[in-house]
Amino acid sequence: MIRQKSFLNEKPTLYIVPTPIGNLDEMTPRSIEILRSVDVVAAEDTRVTLSLFNKFDIKTRVVQHQAHNEQESSVGLINLLSQGYNVALVSDAGYPLISDPGQNIVNVAIEKGYNVVSLSGCNAALNALVASGLQAQPHVFIGFLSTNNNERIRELNSYKNIPMTLIFYEAPHRIEKMIKACIEVLGDRKACLARELTKYHEEFIRGSLNEILEVCDNLKGEMVLVVEGFKEDIRAIDMGEIMKLVDESIGNGLSTTDAIKEVSKKTGVKKNLIYESFHNRG
Ligand code: SAM
Repeated sequence: MIRQKSFLNEKPTLYIVPTPIGNLDEMTPRSIEILRSVDVVAAEDTRVTLSLFNKFDIKTRVVQHQAHNEQESSVGLINLLSQGYNVALVSDAGYPLISDPGQNIVNVAIEKGYNVVSLSGCNAALNALVASGLQAQPHVFIGFLSTNNNERIRELNSYKNIPMTLIFYEAPHRIEKMIKACIEVLGDRKACLARELTKYHEEFIRGSLNEILEVCDNLKGEMVLVVEGFKEDIRAIDMGEIMKLVDESIGNGLSTTDAIKEVSKKTGVKKNLIYESFHNRG
């Protein structure tokens, strides 16, 4: 067991400092003060952090804490703590560690007995959740799903029976595929796509996953998808069964297009979803 009285000891501290996810007015006075007062700031991308520092007149030395070799990078930061320096960790936006680097340095700093102190601040997942109109708790933060389709389906299958609101991050160029995978595995649940949070083009698209799918092909910017949790009455689409129905209709003499249309009408599953599964199956 490790007990830490954050402000009642002389040990060096690793501060976890959140930064704005868009609107710079959300930078808190305490975050600015800590970033000014520490000896070194470890940043995900030093250019992004330096531009934030210019805005808030922060002059502290910035070093890079790289996502691709967090472990090696952590050695340097632990070294600074061991010399008695206070270090702050920031990411490009929001909280470090939340779909961003930092887990390794936090674990090692705790293990080595240094203070690890977090500041309050911005996080895209929570902004999206509380304005989504979906049940705020219990919820599960998932972050990014795999970019590989089979892996994404496998991951979604592991979440599909959780009776808690699900929060996903996704890049705009993958959102369409990702929502299709959600519909296939989770069923047509209620959802909210929250885009460009805290920025001028902020938008909340609240509806069913199928409704959101219809408008998401040209959407740009950063986005969070909040999806309602498992409920007994939401029926996940069994694509295996749907494919059987399509094959049957083709066996009865319909063209592929007509068979897909017929099965879509019968089951209520969108034509384009059936079409894609039909043409992508092995
Ligand atoms: N550390 C950040 C946090 O605490 O929210 C998340 C960083 S992660 C690398 C970037 C992803 O967060 C984006 O792809 C998007 O899914 C989400 N995100 C970040 N800023 C956002 C914003 N202003 N509006 C909507 N989503 C945002």
